[in-house]
Amino acid sequence: MKKKFKLIILSLFAITFGCSHSGHKDRKPHIAIAGLGIESSTFSPARTHEDAFHTWEGNEIFSYYPFFSDSSLLQQAEWSPTKLSRSLPGGTVTRETYESLVGKTLELLEKNKPYDGLFLDIHGAMSVVGLDDPEGDFIQRIRKVIGYETLISTSMDLHGNVSLRLAENSDLITCYRMAPHEDAWESRQRALVNLIDRVESGKGKPAYKAWVPVPILLPGEKTSTRIEPAKSLYQEVAPATELDGVIDAAIWVGYAWADEPRNHAVVMAYGDDQGKVGQVAEQLAQHFWDVRKEFSFVAPTGNLKECLDQAIKSSKKPFFISDSGDNPTAGGAGDVSWTLTEVLKRPEFKSANGPSLIYASIPGPELIEKAVNAGVGSKIEANVGALVDDRDAPPLKIAGTIKSIVQGDKNAETEVVVRVGSVDIIVTKKRKPYHTEADFTRLGLNPREADIVMVKIGYLVPELYNMQADWLLALTPGGVDQDLERLDYQRIIRPMFPLDKDMEDPDLSARFIPISGTQQE
Ligand SMILES: [Zn+2]
Repeated sequence: MKKKFKLIILSLFAITFGCSHSGHKDRKPHIAIAGLGIESSTFSPARTHEDAFHTWEGNEIFSYYPFFSDSSLLQQAEWSPTKLSRSLPGGTVTRETYESLVGKTLELLEKNKPYDGLFLDIHGAMSVVGLDDPEGDFIQRIRKVIGYETLISTSMDLHGNVSLRLAENSDLITCYRMAPHEDAWESRQRALVNLIDRVESGKGKPAYKAWVPVPILLPGEKTSTRIEPAKSLYQEVAPATELDGVIDAAIWVGYAWADEPRNHAVVMAYGDDQGKVGQVAEQLAQHFWDVRKEFSFVAPTGNLKECLDQAIKSSKKPFFISDSGDNPTAGGAGDVSWTLTEVLKRPEFKSANGPSLIYASIPGPELIEKAVNAGVGSKIEANVGALVDDRDAPPLKIAGTIKSIVQGDKNAETEVVVRVGSVDIIVTKKRKPYHTEADFTRLGLNPREADIVMVKIGYLVPELYNMQADWLLALTPGGVDQDLERLDYQRIIRPMFPLDKDMEDPDLSARFIPISGTQQE
């Protein structure tokens, strides 16, 4: 009874809040934009500094979002874009960097308030030195500046984490429904369109928000929506949001390479019909739990030796091998030298006539400097890798011939291809993910003609996936080790599937959380 009474009070609040926002027929809604995105591993010794973030300020921000090229969207509101900062995944963000980025965003938000709405674009898996739940902290500090009358619509990656604090302070909150994230722009647009709709219609904050923590922690490489069971699970989201009284719903897989209580899966739904909101959230959470034992790696896996043995024997080419433990796009340092060290030990690759293998990639600023001075065609000998993460192998001395030198890449800055035996090693000044065919052909390499292509990546992005004749995911060591049982978790909530195999069924009933601004009362 007590709970029900509280909900009635909350609904009254919703109506009141809604009314206070409505009826601005004389002017367009005033919408601010802010964003901060990185996924950062606490299992990597790497640290992320401010120079790793690309930032957009003011009107530059419109150019980041393809959907703003549609001028009708631009005309729907009076916009106050503030600051958007995004980095490649990496190690834990330093506290100074976080404070600086957050501080500048808050300053800009302060300038043009009050707002009817804020579109908050975050990843959700940022780790910061000495600070739990950075996105929760960020949104709470935003609330202190803009207040609680503003509707916040939060858009996230499905690998982000949704703490109770983040859920409470967001009025609308959503994430991608596809991994790989082919719907990244569509999802952000949904978050924005729903925000404008709730403000313009005067409906304001949804009356009900349901949050269901699901005690499952899985790597992204087991939860691709291209295959079951994630495919069917995520396909259930869109139809559920068609129900009258439900605005949106979302499933977060969460981020497995940080060790905080918030790291686990979450389901949310929200809208104005309490029964339907609760039903959708519980149905999605139960579906997730029911299929938990069916998640497996998107590609056959093996240790490195098994993967190399099979690739060398295979007649299919190019044979792709994911060097997954140091995947820089999941938060690995990207400079673990262990895998390349093992490759170069293999007798098959010692002679130029061996099976051709492209290795992408390893940072080696020392080699880059020498190569730029020596020039293409010269012999070179220098160390690569393990400047950031040397836990599994020390810097590797490679000796070979320089095949190409390319300057100017946004991430790598300088790239050098060194031929060692039958292996073409891509060495970069700074770490860079290799995700497109052009990333290789720009360097004079033809991955389609190679026998084996090894990439520091987890699941293959669409362009590489379409190129592969066969593919294995090597369970190599690094900051984003795919074998979660090798990680030394101390702070995640237990029990957690699949770490605690025989755990009991959890309580997956919908938890209705207060409308933002009412939780302090
Ligand atoms: Zn993701």
